[in-house]
Amino acid sequence: MNLKNRLSTVKHRIREACGRCGRSEEEIQIIAVTKYTTMKTVERVLLSGIGHVGESRTQEARSKYETFHPRGTWHFIGHLQTNKVKDIIGKFEYIHSLDRLSLMKEIEKKAADLNTVVNCFIQVNVSGEKSKQGLSPEALFSFAQEVSRMKQIRVVGLMTMAPYELDAEATRPVFRELRRLRDELNAKDIFSYPVQHLSMGMSNDFEVAIEEGATWLRLGSVLVGEESIQGKEV
Ligand SMILES: *Cc1c(COP(=O)(O)O)cnc(C)c1O
Repeated sequence: MNLKNRLSTVKHRIREACGRCGRSEEEIQIIAVTKYTTMKTVERVLLSGIGHVGESRTQEARSKYETFHPRGTWHFIGHLQTNKVKDIIGKFEYIHSLDRLSLMKEIEKKAADLNTVVNCFIQVNVSGEKSKQGLSPEALFSFAQEVSRMKQIRVVGLMTMAPYELDAEATRPVFRELRRLRDELNAKDIFSYPVQHLSMGMSNDFEVAIEEGATWLRLGSVLVGEESIQGKEV
């Protein structure tokens, strides 16, 4: 299967999932996660009409961005080290991994230097897995209070990664909880604007994420294929 076929299969699965829960496909955006893939794969992704590209390692993210911008809208989805913030902001339009005060302060500072506002998702470790980044659900609200004072950060949504499960259905409580946290955040009026988005759902579990309210799907292997991740072409 090539990218075009994979994309049409994914779109079909998105449509079916939307049909099951009465949502409109237009509410759902695909980010093609191209980490570990070649420039050629990124080129194909952009040609396929998927406008959103996700990268998770700063060096690789930067070289792909430099190669392709102004094509594409770039999403930084991985753990962001404080000393790498300067390489990402002003370039990547979205950061999905705002998860600590030191990172918040650095984004605020560097964004002020550039006179820009950075769109961020607050990453929450809903499952509590040790291997995952993100704030605990309990820490979310006091963290959000701090973020709401930042002039250069706009919180567009919450992000989470579910544990890998052989049966995707087992991820449902994680996605449901992220949605509940977003609704609670809005009910508390911590931000002067509604926090709209849920960045959740990956290759293994995106249909369940859609049923639980995902608005941004981060899709790697299901789109670009395992082959390209191992260095072969799609
Ligand atoms: C790699 C990655 C993805 C995509 O993973 P797939 O399972 O290949 O779809 C999504 N989100 C984050 C944060 C990632 O690191």
